[in-house]
Amino acid sequence: MRILVLSDIHANLEALDACLASAPSFDSVVNLGDIVGYGASPNEVTERSRQLGKIFVRGNHDKAATGVMELDDFNPMAAAAALWTRKELTDENLEWLRELPHGPISLPDFPQVQLVHGSPNDEDEYVVSLGDALAPLIALNVPLTFFGHTHLQGGFFANGAAADGFRPEYRTVGQPESVALQLKSSTRYLINPGSVGQPRDGDWRAAYALFDTHAQIVHFHRAPYNLKSAQDRIFAAKLPPRLATRLAAGR
Ligand code: ZN
Repeated sequence: MRILVLSDIHANLEALDACLASAPSFDSVVNLGDIVGYGASPNEVTERSRQLGKIFVRGNHDKAATGVMELDDFNPMAAAAALWTRKELTDENLEWLRELPHGPISLPDFPQVQLVHGSPNDEDEYVVSLGDALAPLIALNVPLTFFGHTHLQGGFFANGAAADGFRPEYRTVGQPESVALQLKSSTRYLINPGSVGQPRDGDWRAAYALFDTHAQIVHFHRAPYNLKSAQDRIFAAKLPPRLATRLAAGR
């Protein structure tokens, strides 16, 4: 089975479309949350996500935009985007986003795989460094956890006393590209497919992953998308302009 792993789409329809257009064939889709927030296409992205799959965990921006969470921890730009998104969403999409489940959840046919937004211990925690990853890696009772939230593609692994982080290394900056990671037995992994719609690892291309359950390979992907169209929508919506300009830098 080939599972498309999407995270942090952030209402960027152009980026989502580019991922779907460039992805090799897949059997199902899982979504690690932050479907909305920042970008200017919350209804289109929510509806597309609902059509694509049935397996979701909620992200902090999904909670903020739907009033499940206070905006106290959000910077002014993120809070402005959350309030705009709340006004923009249809009642049906707002209700659907509000009901998204808390992670971790396990894949129905693959109990050895779990999905979270932030970390297995706390859905809002950022796992950025190996130091952040060690506690969850040690405590994990499943070999493979997909997580999002940091918008940094790559991840961490632990095998016995050894642990390390990794980032896929790409050769181009503007082409569709993929890097494969062969999973090893007796090793625990925390893997971030990267952010579809707001990458923050210095690469502007939309990020996603494809997990081949049979071969036990995670393919990391980057897909160029129509950046200008996504930016123009953000300007037209009168969202904070930096939400548009920072897309070009992938920061
Ligand atoms: Zn996010």
